[in-house]
Amino acid sequence: MTMENNELRKAGLKVTLPRVKILQMLDQADQRHMSAEDVYKSLMEAGEDVGLATVYRVLTQFEAAGLVERHNFDGGHAVFELADSGHHDHMVDVDSGEVIEFCDPEIERRQREIVKEHGFELVDHNLVLYIRKPKKKD
Ligand SMILES: [Zn+2]
Repeated sequence: MTMENNELRKAGLKVTLPRVKILQMLDQADQRHMSAEDVYKSLMEAGEDVGLATVYRVLTQFEAAGLVERHNFDGGHAVFELADSGHHDHMVDVDSGEVIEFCDPEIERRQREIVKEHGFELVDHNLVLYIRKPKKKD
């Protein structure tokens, strides 16, 4: 738990059991992008007694402290991921809700160029591709 304690302190948050448990869950889950409900269910399955309202509150505190990033993808719940990886974009499978990360240097470069052509410099961007598996033909 020491690592989580340090992370919380670094972010300026007091160390509380729910915060530690939720941070651990985000760190150890197979899924990198989790909704509040996902976090809540995983905690329940692990036998941890943390209520859904607490999960919401803690995730919002984590977001404000810069520990997690919130994504509001279309047609789903907000999902959260630890803000510990560099810039990347996302694809969302509209059928399964699966979130896939990608980063394409060519797209990154083109975006900066397009912005420059308009006389600006790029501050930030958020690219989400909504995808689905092609239907099999037989
Ligand atoms: Zn991501």
